[in-house]
This record gives sequence, structure tokens and C-alpha cells, in this order.
Amino acid sequence: MIACLGRIVHDNDAESKLDDDVSSISKSLDLQGSIESGCVTGLASKDFGGLYSVKPLALIKPSGAEDIARVVKAASRTSHLTVAARGNGHSINGQAMAGGGLVIDMRSTEENHFKFFKINGSPYIDVSGGALWEDVLTRCVSLFGLAPRSWTDYLSLTVGGTLSNAGVSGQTFRHGPQTSNVTELDVVTGKGEITVCSESQNSELFFGVLGGLGQFGIITRARIKLQPAPDMTVSRLLRRLAFVGRVKFQADVSYVEFLLRVKRAEEQAKANCIWDSPHPWLNLFVSKSDIVDFDRTVFKRMVKNGVGGPMLIYPLLRSKWDNRTSVALPEGEIFYIVALLRFVPKGPSVEKLVAQNHEIVNWCIKEGLDFKLYLPHYQSKEDWKRHFGNQWTRFVERKACFDPMAILAPGQKIFKRTH
Ligand code: FAD
Repeated sequence: MIACLGRIVHDNDAESKLDDDVSSISKSLDLQGSIESGCVTGLASKDFGGLYSVKPLALIKPSGAEDIARVVKAASRTSHLTVAARGNGHSINGQAMAGGGLVIDMRSTEENHFKFFKINGSPYIDVSGGALWEDVLTRCVSLFGLAPRSWTDYLSLTVGGTLSNAGVSGQTFRHGPQTSNVTELDVVTGKGEITVCSESQNSELFFGVLGGLGQFGIITRARIKLQPAPDMTVSRLLRRLAFVGRVKFQADVSYVEFLLRVKRAEEQAKANCIWDSPHPWLNLFVSKSDIVDFDRTVFKRMVKNGVGGPMLIYPLLRSKWDNRTSVALPEGEIFYIVALLRFVPKGPSVEKLVAQNHEIVNWCIKEGLDFKLYLPHYQSKEDWKRHFGNQWTRFVERKACFDPMAILAPGQKIFKRTH
């Protein structure tokens, strides 16, 4: 097995030879799923950002946690191979890629686990880490009249992908991020061990992988809290709000249509051929104490001509987040998510916009703003250290404990693979 992996990495011969080797790996791994190499791995070298492209050695379509554990263990027996779980590839900066490594297509496990049950009278659903949130929504509502409490704006994202970041949307203000709404996980660690974890069982792993940027394990199952799904959202929301009457506009949509609203925008963007254009997005959490300065400099000066797409800003409460998870947050209780969702045609403007993102982040650092990047992207260890601040030691200790050879999620560029 080790010999096989070593051979294919050092083999510079034709693609057909690579295919032969990959198929022999497949046999020795004894996967229930499949392993692919060559041009069919194209999916794994792309993401929504369209800014990076890194070719993997092979794309693996596992049937479940056992396959994933075998792949991670096999990689650990080599001196160099890395493993990246790929959810739906909706990262911006190549976070789900593995140059020369093994990419695991989590979508091939999306049908696993779907199971409804009650604990002490409260409803829960178990779903695969590779399930799309849109499928979790439609199945839970149509089968049980129930739904998870906390969402992202856009639902063609995998459960494991958003839980590895946080998962935020309008409901986060009241219910916390998606990471605050799961109670148990199955995780394949960087040692290739399949582990059940929760607040009371293997809790360091549980909180580590939540917001852990894929660094400590691959989430193969998540247990999610459910609540009754309302038929409609709009009128109930408006009843509780004070607002200036003339700014009110209203659309009657069902709960499911409301949650799937960005899907409609996706269809339009695809029809206008801008969905597949590069997306140099920038997402930040900015503390309330600094949002006025941020507004004065960033909105009113740096991006005063717009960002080539929507900008989202809404408040979040730190107390709704669990500080045992790996997510890095600003210090203040109230902070704002600021999302600059750029859609740009390919060309020189992409570099300019990436440079503008750097300018914004560098300005925040220079001025000492209480802020964090959401869906962070840094290249150097110093930047990551600063990002995690006083949580850096804990992050490093978790890495040493659960993925000591730094096999997992190399596309985050936090740790280097060791022997
Ligand atoms: P990928 O991009 O495939 O992976 C992301 C990272 O997680 C990688 O490091 C990968 O290795 C790791 N990973 C993937 N699956 C697993 C797993 N099962 N276990 C462990 N690690 C894993 N985010 C929000 O919070 N709110 C939003 O409203 C929101 N809207 C978005 C809208 C669009 C159009 C896009 C493109 C992104 C949006 N995001 C939003 C960001 C999104 O949550 C993240 O990019 C998320 O990582 C994407 O999920 P994915 O399944 O595509 O993950």
C-alpha cells in the first residue's frame, strides 16, 4: 500500500500509468466507494472563489466514515500525502484543495445517516457531514414539519463545510451560529480514528472541529436540533419590529421559499453567466466599538464605488456562541458580520479587488480594530497566530492531539505536513 502511494507520486509517466496506480491503490485500500485520477479530478482543483487551482493526486468518493478512515490512515503511512475533505467547494481561497494530495468528495456520502428521533421529547435529525443544507431543509419540513433553527443565507453548502467555519445568517442573532445548534458528531481524526463526540464525550474533539477549519477531523455525521417549521415568516417578523412605515416592502413567501431565496439568485446569476466568474469575497466580523471607524474608512472611502455585488451587514451577539469551539471572534459582545460579495468578470480587475481586500484587512490590523476574518484566509503562521490570538495555543494543542502529522485540510495553509 505505502509502496503504491509512493510510486504514483514519483511517477512522471503518462496519465494512463497514473490511472493504473490509482486503481491499484483503490484495490489495496479496499474502499466501498471509488478513487479517481486524471482529468476527472477537475472538480477538486476548483472552488467558488475561482482564484486558486491546485491539482490533487486523486479524488476519492467514499461510501462512509470507514472509507475516509482508511484513506487518512494510508496517507499517514507516507511521508508527504495530505487529505482534504471537500464539501461543496464553496470556499473562496482553495481551502478545500490538496495539491498533490487526496481530496475526499463528501457529497458522495450525502445520503448516509438521515435519521429522525427525539431525546427527552425534543426532536433531532442525524445527517451526513456531506449532506447539503437545502436537502436537510426540504426533507425535514416535508417529512416531519420540522426544521433546524440556524441557517446560512445560501443552502447549497454541506453540513460539514459550514460547521467547520460557523454557519451564520439572520437566525444567528437569536439562536447562535450553526455550530451552536449541533449536539453530537462522528469525526474521522487525522489519525484515521472514527470518534463519536459531544459536549460530554470526547468534548475537546467536539468543540475543536466546530469552527476548526477542517484541522482536527472530518465530520461524517452531525446531530442537529430541530424546531417546528412555520408556514410563513414575513408577517410574524414584522409584527415584532418598530420601523419607519414608508421603508416597508413585503413579499409573501413560504418558509422554505424564504430559506431557499439565494437559490433563485443563483439561477439568475447562472443565466447571466456571472455565477462562475471569480469571487474575491471578503467576510469580516467587526466589533460594535469599531464599526463607526470601519464605516468612515472602508465603506465611505475604500469601497465607496461599490464592490461589484451585494454587501451584507448585520449584528451578532457573542454570548450566542460557545467559546469552547475553535471559531475566532472579536472581543465585544455585539459585532457585525460585514460581507463584501464580489462578482467580477475574469481579468485585471480581479487582482485589483484582491489587493483592495488586503488593503482593508491591513488597515484593520494597523488601526488595531477589534475584528476577525470570517472564512479566514492567511498565508503565514504569524498571520494565523494573530488571527487566533490567545486561542492560538489551544488550536496548536488540538492539532497535536488530533492530527499530529498535519494531514488534514492543507488548503487552509495553517500547518505544514510532518513525517
Ligand atoms: P468546502 O468549501 O468544500 O470546504 C470548506 C472547508 O471545510 C475546507 O477546509 C474543507 O476541507 C473543510 N471541510 C469540508 N467538509 C468537511 C467535513 N465534513 N469535515 C471537516 N472539514 C470539512 N457562510 C455562512 O456562514 N453564511 C452564509 O450565508 C454563507 N453564504 C454563502 C453563499 C455562497 C454563494 C457561498 C459560495 C458561500 C457562502 N458561505 C456562507 C460560506 C460557506 O459557509 C463556506 O464557504 C463553507 O465552507 C462552504 O461549505 P462547503 O460545503 O462548500 O465547504
